[in-house]
Amino acid sequence: MLHTGGTLMMRGGDLTPLRPDVYTSDLLTELPVLDRIADIETRILFNLDSSDMQPHHWVELAAAVHGALDERLPGGGLAFDGVVVLHGTDTMAYTAGALAFLLPGLDRPVVFTGAQRPLAEVRTDARSNLVDACHLATMDIPEVGIAFNARLFRGCRAKKVDAWGLAAFDSPTCPPLVTLGVTVERGAHILPARSRAAFDPRIEAKVLAVRVFPGLDPSLLLGALRVGVRGLLLEGFGSGNLPRLENSLIPVIEAALARDVPVVIVSQCMRGAVDLSRYEGGSAAQGAGAISAGTMTAQAALAKLMIALGRAGEGRRLDAAKRAFAETWAGEV
Ligand code: ASP
Repeated sequence: MLHTGGTLMMRGGDLTPLRPDVYTSDLLTELPVLDRIADIETRILFNLDSSDMQPHHWVELAAAVHGALDERLPGGGLAFDGVVVLHGTDTMAYTAGALAFLLPGLDRPVVFTGAQRPLAEVRTDARSNLVDACHLATMDIPEVGIAFNARLFRGCRAKKVDAWGLAAFDSPTCPPLVTLGVTVERGAHILPARSRAAFDPRIEAKVLAVRVFPGLDPSLLLGALRVGVRGLLLEGFGSGNLPRLENSLIPVIEAALARDVPVVIVSQCMRGAVDLSRYEGGSAAQGAGAISAGTMTAQAALAKLMIALGRAGEGRRLDAAKRAFAETWAGEV
């Protein structure tokens, strides 16, 4: 169990430093049943409100998961059957998406969870989420998932959809991987185990994500290109539409491409997909060279773009992004 922070272990709203020994005993005192699910080793990586997670934290976390999955017992057997990541809910979908792409060769589960109310409170969702996450991490589910409110969502398809309710996550264009009711319902779309790949820590954080809105002044985006943006993610209207008459964003796409800056388009909608050929605004964007992210969430598309650009050499960013978004790395489309 890797701890990164969030509400789950907060006390009195405080993010105080944690010590592994205190942490583990607190966890088992609050929730002794965890001992019956698995032998759990806890490691504290960070203690952050997830609003403070940065792309370099994703890479550090992915490296820790990758390393743990390689660990062996003295007898030679694998040290861990699965990994649970405790994480704040606010940016959990970004981190889970990034980990899905940073750990392409996965043969065991990596289960994120968190809570809307701290574990130490009487009325909390932390207990059930922790039990579910630990249970799911012992199963044959070689995916990065988010366990929340009795469901396991594919990490690179999930979104935080509720700031107050306990059903805080959903994956609107992908059924849950697992539904935990009276029985355990496994989705037929759970990916098969993939052979472990070498870990690649490269990531390019100079990416700008902009939700398009009526009145967006294109010169703001042109200014961003001038100060060194390496990739642009536009959240378009509906099926990926952009303005093309007044305040047209088409010249922004052209200027970006001229600087080897890829432009990726996701939809602002919860459901459905980007289809740039449907309307003139989308098709002008496509004609100018924008890349459709299909059904991908903005969170997953942002992480994928950062990772693809991190791996691209100078002058090869457009090619790298085009290739990355034409491929499926972890069931993200
Ligand atoms: N602000 C908190 C965080 O994301 C919220 C939570 O954990 O649910 O870290």
